[in-house]
Amino acid sequence: MKYLLLLAVVGLALWWFKRRSAEPPRQAPPPQKPTPRASAAEPQAMVACAHCGVHLPQAEAVADTSGRPYCGEAHRAAGPR
Ligand SMILES: [Zn+2]
Repeated sequence: MKYLLLLAVVGLALWWFKRRSAEPPRQAPPPQKPTPRASAAEPQAMVACAHCGVHLPQAEAVADTSGRPYCGEAHRAAGPR
């Protein structure tokens, strides 16, 4: 009977350890999460290249001095069409 109780306690401890290790580490999350710059789930502002008209995310666009968006450095140098 004594061994049965010991076995039950050991079994419970093993189950408890297994359950703990299966869970993600329960650490306090940082107070403010760094928000990703541009998540794929979020809608992105699209702009059209002033030279060729191709649409691209605003984050990837290259703007000239007047703020017109371009798809790349070459088209920025070429200027608006
Ligand atoms: Zn372009």
